[in-house]
Amino acid sequence: MFSMDNYKGCLVGGASGDALGYAVEFLRKRQILKKFGENGITEYVLHDGKALFSDDTQMTLFTASGILHADSPEKYLPSIRKAYLDWYSTQIHSMHEVQILEPLNVPELFCNRAAGMTCLNALRDGGKGTLENSINQSKGCGGVMRTAPIGMITGISLEETILLGAKAAAITHGHSLGWIPAGMFSGMIHLILQENYDIRGAGYTALHAVRKLFPSNDFLPDFVEIIQNALELANSEETVEQAFSVLGEGWVGEEALAIAIYCAAKFEQDFDLCIRAAVNHNGDSDSTGAIAGNLLGAKLGLSGIPQKYQQNLELYDLLLSVAERLYSKKD
Ligand SMILES: [Mg+2]
Repeated sequence: MFSMDNYKGCLVGGASGDALGYAVEFLRKRQILKKFGENGITEYVLHDGKALFSDDTQMTLFTASGILHADSPEKYLPSIRKAYLDWYSTQIHSMHEVQILEPLNVPELFCNRAAGMTCLNALRDGGKGTLENSINQSKGCGGVMRTAPIGMITGISLEETILLGAKAAAITHGHSLGWIPAGMFSGMIHLILQENYDIRGAGYTALHAVRKLFPSNDFLPDFVEIIQNALELANSEETVEQAFSVLGEGWVGEEALAIAIYCAAKFEQDFDLCIRAAVNHNGDSDSTGAIAGNLLGAKLGLSGIPQKYQQNLELYDLLLSVAERLYSKKD
């Protein structure tokens, strides 16, 4: 618990799953197999020697930056919002045109990696969404895929973590199933990193807390059902193929989280099998890979992530230094 190796594993793991999946984000499974062989994609596709990650990891880094620049707990949310506006700046400006807070003022982040339209539009309009005042009806997975760093904040409770994760997603995603999964995901990372839970235990415990926090939400029953399905399927004899036919494709928040939980719980001892399962499917491979990678990377630590995923990963040193700073930040 509170291990620096696990903090690093969380961020590097997410970036690994994102980078592996980014190459096949918009391919159906049969197209992936045709292109990469019967096991699907199992190694990075390199561009000038680097494995590129997508908007999922970019925005995760900006969530982390928001946390690092908050000087008190009540500043977390406004600081994260400001960091998302900075991310938006990187999508429409070049580096010399805008001032981005360190440590994210690096040229590699000033590029579009299939950024989601919901995030771009919401942030163009100032990122004003809240749990009470939704700015759209999106439940895309762009809210959940970026919130792992919220589970890395120390000194706040599980419930506070879940609420902050949900609020951070609601800045851009108005549908309850755009932000409830984000809260649950942050809560799971909190439980894994700070209370040494395994993936299933974190899933059930965070789900219980979510039910208590949002008891009258109209979409809570749907959310509970898909997450319980994911946890039960991971412990069953059903094949990965059968599980995906139940859990969906991951373009929306609840499906992306369910798929990631399923893969991380089913392959809890093997990071490689976990993220290969999380990206080789019909759906949103980079996001499901990123979320699964954050979860299992947090559990296994950097030392549990195979070298092939650590080598050639872009901005690897930046990911490590951000993880170190999150680990060292105590309010
Ligand atoms: Mg992406």
